[in-house]
Amino acid sequence: MTPVYLGIDLGGSNITAALITSSGKLLRLEKIKTHSHEGVRKTIARVVDLARLVQVAASVPSRQVKAVGIGVPGVISCKSGVVRFSPNLPGWKNVPLAAKIKAALKKPIVMDNDANVAAYGEKWMGAGKKYNHVVVYTLGTGVGGGVIVDSKLLHGYSDGAGELGHMTILPEGPRCNCGNRGCLEALVSGTAIAREGRRAVKEHPKSALARLCEGRADLVTSKLVFQAASAGDVTAKNIVAQTGRFLGIAVANIINLLNPEAVIIGGGVSKAGEDLLKHVRREAGRRSMDDLGKGVKIVAAKLEDRAGVFGAARLAMQNSHYQAEGGRKRRHE
Ligand SMILES: [Zn+2]
Repeated sequence: MTPVYLGIDLGGSNITAALITSSGKLLRLEKIKTHSHEGVRKTIARVVDLARLVQVAASVPSRQVKAVGIGVPGVISCKSGVVRFSPNLPGWKNVPLAAKIKAALKKPIVMDNDANVAAYGEKWMGAGKKYNHVVVYTLGTGVGGGVIVDSKLLHGYSDGAGELGHMTILPEGPRCNCGNRGCLEALVSGTAIAREGRRAVKEHPKSALARLCEGRADLVTSKLVFQAASAGDVTAKNIVAQTGRFLGIAVANIINLLNPEAVIIGGGVSKAGEDLLKHVRREAGRRSMDDLGKGVKIVAAKLEDRAGVFGAARLAMQNSHYQAEGGRKRRHE
């Protein structure tokens, strides 16, 4: 019987669960709303229900599922499986999530930060497949990321490594959610791009961007900025170029620090594709040390919102050497 692993991606808006084989074949994926406003207990119950549902939907018997991996947003302790705090999950403080899920599903469980898990998924089955040293940026409402060195996630002293969005790029730049000024997140996240778009609409009321939102700055989104840029609007193109430059500065720093083989850019903002990446490559090339920068592949992510479940399943697989889990005697299959 082929071993199967359950990857769960617990997000602020959605919970996704997927059954994946050790060769990376996706058997089934199910997604539901998180409804985190209903509180910690109900959210955990929804995770457990979804985990069971995906097994039923795939007709995979429970004994075939060897381990469970879960990615959670926020500050978490990987080893103890405790969610210390999560801005995306209101009310979550020191929640022993791994223990609760383990008790319900009776499987070994591995937990990690959602951005780490998504990075690990990209490394396993996405754009990072061929590489052992990979840095993954996820550009969405905020900016997250994961660092993979020697095919392993870098965790740091207290599991906090890889906060790629909070590298200072502009010392006196816009205020970031973390309290600092000029963080990468405050400059290149979808939120930041929309903010620049709103400013541009006010300053250039005749631009194509202003026409696209019918002059209503409050309707500008990052998507609209990219749309206007690809249609040739100069104002929007400037925003995209500036976003790419800021990201390129961050990437150059990372290249010099970690000497990766590949830097992968994912998340909603990365849908801008080459329009954005060409600026990132140019700036990173200019600023990184020659020997280090030259060979680095700066590419778009491939798995999109499935990266999380792939990474979670992979973590579960690699940490699932606990055949005697739960005191049951089961032979190796
Ligand atoms: Zn910050």
